[in-house]
Amino acid sequence: MKRKPKRSWRKKRARAGEPQIITRAVTHIRLVEVNPGKLAALDELAPIYLALCQQYVHLFCTEEIPNNLRPPLYATSLSERWHRAAIMQAAGIARSWRSNRQRAYQEFLEDLAAYRDEPPEARGDPTNKEPTWREWNVPTLRETAIQANSNVVVCEPSQDTTYDYWLRVSTLAKRKPLYVPVKLAPYHRNALKDKKLNSSVQLNQREGTWWLTLTYDEEIVVETAPDAPVVGIDVGITNFITTSTGKHFGGIDQKTRERHRRDREKRRRKAKLLACLKQKEKCTRLPSTSSRSGKKLIRHTKQQINRAVNQCFTDAGHTDAQFAYEELSVASMRFKTKQMNAYLRASNLAHLPRQIAWNATKRGVLATPVKSAYSSQECSRCHYTHRGNRVSQGTFHCLACGFEAHADKNAALNLSRRIGDGELRACRDRRAIKALLLRRHEQWKHQHGLAGTPQVKRKKRSRSVPSI
Ligand SMILES: [Zn+2]
Repeated sequence: MKRKPKRSWRKKRARAGEPQIITRAVTHIRLVEVNPGKLAALDELAPIYLALCQQYVHLFCTEEIPNNLRPPLYATSLSERWHRAAIMQAAGIARSWRSNRQRAYQEFLEDLAAYRDEPPEARGDPTNKEPTWREWNVPTLRETAIQANSNVVVCEPSQDTTYDYWLRVSTLAKRKPLYVPVKLAPYHRNALKDKKLNSSVQLNQREGTWWLTLTYDEEIVVETAPDAPVVGIDVGITNFITTSTGKHFGGIDQKTRERHRRDREKRRRKAKLLACLKQKEKCTRLPSTSSRSGKKLIRHTKQQINRAVNQCFTDAGHTDAQFAYEELSVASMRFKTKQMNAYLRASNLAHLPRQIAWNATKRGVLATPVKSAYSSQECSRCHYTHRGNRVSQGTFHCLACGFEAHADKNAALNLSRRIGDGELRACRDRRAIKALLLRRHEQWKHQHGLAGTPQVKRKKRSRSVPSI
């Protein structure tokens, strides 16, 4: 079976001058219901398809390695072709769930090792808790989304001018395909002009309306010179983006923060209530705790993130530059959002590096993910790495050399230098990175004639005996 190189930009980063294929999607094409009940066959098929897909998602997440070609296992009234589509979609969902879970688990282990390595006095800090692992739930398919290949849904250009395309959809009834006309909005028509459509399409049903997503491939060449100046990007919540050039883009303001807090409380109350109900009445199916306002809030924040990333890439000071951004991990998110709640970080912070990678790719700009460990604790001047260097959320003050800067800018400077840092890239875990940074600090001291001076003590002495 031939698979489209969908989202290959995520898996493989192109080097300068090398073309790469990206898949662009045109979403929110509304399926017109020419006469009432026209889409009934699709309505009828969707829940069966979704339930089947869910069964395979469970299988591929818990018992078997995801496999597009797995022989059918469950009984269904769907055709063989639809059955295969469900298996393939489930395998895709399970693959990304498995790799995300594995990455998170690996980070948890590193995080735990780093915690156990810390001196006992650091454990007195109430914000420094021992990391715990909570097993992930198998994904639940809540919304109707059908990823259909050309075996089950074919999208053909329309011959007359009334419609743009016709969808031929196989249904539960044999040899009785459903023909659905597709009329594009001018915006969609413009986006798809002269494009060769990919053969697979996605169908989504939201509140009774069916929507179509079409995709096409585009070849993009990275234009950035490999020796272009590097702009480091530090991501966070107060400032979505801080660059090594000292600029800030976007961020969550007090008002949005308050909205997030209220939404989280609401979901907590709802979850509590549901837990009570479950005990009392043995309900098998309970409504979800995700709220409409919560989803709206996530969407709103994502839009703000997109805008900030856009501004960063189009900033006049960043033309002809290449970017270094942090590979955000669960562990570093934990460090970054100590005061913020888990909900916020889960829903939004992970969207930032994805958006940075996507923006770079579509513009043909070079952006390289780099290891982020200790980038907020390392001094960008002398490499001294200590949690105490970060005196507050916004300020970095090096305990060794006295260097002072905006904390995020200091981190962005560190990140900008990690491109091409083979030694750092070769480090296996956080512990090795910290050891390397402290070795570099010793080198720095040596170069500056400070070898042998115990830096932190020196600082303390100067504090307790003020110079007159
Ligand atoms: Zn320093």
